[in-house]
Amino acid sequence: MMVDTVIIGGGIAGLSLASEFADCRGSGEGITLVEAETALAHHTSSRSAQQLIPSYGPEPVLELTRLTIPALVKPTRAAPVPLAWPSPFVVAGSPADVASMTVPGLRALWSEELFEYCPELAGNPERYSAAIIDDSAVRTNATALVEWHRQRAEQAGVRILTGAKVTAAKPSDDGTWALTVGDDQLIAHTVVNAAGAWADHVAELFGAVPQQLQPLRRTAALVSLSEPLGATHPMVDDAGSGWYYRPDEDGAMISWGEAEPSPACDAQPRPNAIDDLIATVERETSLTVTGVRKAWTGLRTEAPSGVPICGWDPQVSNFLWLAGQGGYGFQTSSAMARAATDLLVDGRIEDWLSADTAAALQPQPIST
Ligand SMILES: Cc1cc2nc3c(=O)[nH]c(=O)nc-3n(C[C@H](O)[C@H](O)[C@H](O)COP(=O)(O)OP(=O)(O)OC[C@H]3O[C@@H](n4cnc5c(N)ncnc54)[C@H](O)[C@@H]3O)c2cc1C
Repeated sequence: MMVDTVIIGGGIAGLSLASEFADCRGSGEGITLVEAETALAHHTSSRSAQQLIPSYGPEPVLELTRLTIPALVKPTRAAPVPLAWPSPFVVAGSPADVASMTVPGLRALWSEELFEYCPELAGNPERYSAAIIDDSAVRTNATALVEWHRQRAEQAGVRILTGAKVTAAKPSDDGTWALTVGDDQLIAHTVVNAAGAWADHVAELFGAVPQQLQPLRRTAALVSLSEPLGATHPMVDDAGSGWYYRPDEDGAMISWGEAEPSPACDAQPRPNAIDDLIATVERETSLTVTGVRKAWTGLRTEAPSGVPICGWDPQVSNFLWLAGQGGYGFQTSSAMARAATDLLVDGRIEDWLSADTAAALQPQPIST
């Protein structure tokens, strides 16, 4: 079968591009998204903290986040449920640890204010003697967002194939690509690499030089609490060691906040990781965990620069990178999808994005 564009990867990156690109063209005809797993968003995109923090990340990520938040808080196409809503982010710890995480736009909290927001820290005033808050942070509903993009894309005519792993690719003389997808063949003019932790592996299938992407493990759990935090409770990050928690229904999501190198795989929590995390949360706060509902590990995949990649491969034709979103895949998703759409439609990112950020997103000409 012959198509215009194949998007490889059915996580937030591939799906948000599928819906944005189809919207911009006025039709999804000729666009196919292929996902190796039998379910969409099986990997990192169903394993995140679902927080969008405008003060978190390097400068290009901050700009992409500032552009993504309004697109999710007030989407131009109606969504059946809210896609994003206010959810402040607090960093608390010693003055030195908190100062090392301060960026412009964050407000310092006095102790009394911190303990009003987070009464569970009040019993540990020596550890939590300083704090900052980002009032502009929002929470998203990752499941709803992924589903919203899927529906928008499919309604526009995008074909979405699951259980469809790309295993080989060959360039043809007319500039198209012949892809082996499961037992089938797809001929495509343009390929988008949105394969998350596998993006470097996919690039190699196309003869592109890997961008030295590094998947990094992060483990988290949803736990029940003896006393609910309340829906308006902020997300709290321990500045000294990076573990964090935020409210989730009548319990909390907790995470180590670690970044441990891993090969691309279906990562799983290590034995005792969640027990040790619960012990830490209970030691440093007055929270009492009464049960674990779900535990998981996901891979945040970063480029060496720490900045996501969105751009044409410097050596291989008709091969667009949309990868390396690290811990920012949701908070940058709409702006990244728009940038990739510009590249597919016009060959360049238009000036709604600063020239510095557009340049920082380009894949690097890495030698082998
Ligand atoms: C614990 C944790 C907390 C996080 N918290 C946040 C947060 O609060 N805010 C935020 O913005 N981000 C957060 N992130 C990061 C965010 O989840 C990721 O940046 C984002 O999900 C990456 O999306 P993706 O689509 O690039 O990758 P994925 O969701 O992994 O999708 C890539 C897809 O490509 C498919 N694929 C791979 N190879 C092939 C192939 N050969 N053929 C076909 N398909 C293929 C895979 O099966 C996979 O489904 C967090 C991550 C973790 C682990």
